[in-house]
Amino acid sequence: MKQSGIIYFLTHIIITQRMANKKYRKNKYKYGSTRKAAARTRRLRKMRRFFRLLTSVIVLLLLAAVTIWMLRDSARKENYAREQVMLSSPGEVPDAPVRVWFLDVGEADAALVQCDGKAMLIDAGNVEDGPFVAEFLQQRGVRSLEYIVATHPHEDHVGGIGNILGKFPVGAVLSPVDEMPVHDASEGNEDTSSQQLNISAYSVLRRQLRQNRISVSIPAPGSHYALGNADIEILGPVSSETDNLNDLSIVLRIVYGNVSFLFTGDAEYQELQDITESGAVLSSDVLKVAHHGSTDAANFSFLEAVSPSCAVISVGAENEHYHPTEKLLRMLEDVGARILRTDRHGTICVTSDGKTLQYHITADDSAAYESAANTSAVADSAAPASHS
Ligand SMILES: [Zn+2]
Repeated sequence: MKQSGIIYFLTHIIITQRMANKKYRKNKYKYGSTRKAAARTRRLRKMRRFFRLLTSVIVLLLLAAVTIWMLRDSARKENYAREQVMLSSPGEVPDAPVRVWFLDVGEADAALVQCDGKAMLIDAGNVEDGPFVAEFLQQRGVRSLEYIVATHPHEDHVGGIGNILGKFPVGAVLSPVDEMPVHDASEGNEDTSSQQLNISAYSVLRRQLRQNRISVSIPAPGSHYALGNADIEILGPVSSETDNLNDLSIVLRIVYGNVSFLFTGDAEYQELQDITESGAVLSSDVLKVAHHGSTDAANFSFLEAVSPSCAVISVGAENEHYHPTEKLLRMLEDVGARILRTDRHGTICVTSDGKTLQYHITADDSAAYESAANTSAVADSAAPASHS
């Protein structure tokens, strides 16, 4: 709309100027050297000069705008190039005011946020991931947790939390519910066995919370929590009117200095849409991609609003849900995000001093994946030929 308006405006000026030129010449011949004609010619000449000046000003303004845009774009690219991805073991990741770890727990979620010596755990993977997550925390020097966020009551997120509760003092546990909802219509929860798994994982968690005398807080959207000098804002769920437990995921944004991180749990399209429309600031440097990269989390307007420079996908290698999906990966590429994923890069750590970001991966089998994908593509295209 904007471009067509500018084109219309410029065309209008050029046509008006040409008409003024034509009139000027016509007038010169028609009226010869009479006084009336001379006055008219002067007026037309003035008009011509004015349009010439106007055109020059517009052209100059356009040139200036293009130059500014090009300079900003190249500065952004330079910045992006400086943000190197380093391959190192978790023990080699340097100390920094902010360290955000995305643990490799397969087709599940677990993230540790360390900030100015304080720690917060967002999900803890499946039940069997609990001991690994607890050990990882100990190795990273965590003595206590300010918060544990149980994004939503699904086993692949809250299953491992019980193992943490007995080992670390915990300030508060944040959850979107304090009771397991009766009905759950979220994707991947169609069969009774996974429903049972979620129900029993949540009842075990509730028992452990009771045993450890920890009560659950249900955070309201817009509420803030502090972690060292970082500010945590709760963005979702905006509405609890849903029978889709994924859409009840706690979504939060962490801001430290000039850097920001957005965690989305397993939020699907509707919750992401509600958050986009809520008017909250979403723009973030690092995005924990919702729902392991599922298509139901592919909300382009949300991704555009976040516009992350890095998108982290917590996903299991060769998982049965085919996560992450091509549709979502394409959308992330379209918004210009660097994609890091736990199935290829192992446990991922993003460190920051509040100004710049550094990415650390603990494995890199991207090349193996590329060649496997190419081999299967060759095999697929060769298959019909061998049958014919
Ligand atoms: Zn999940």
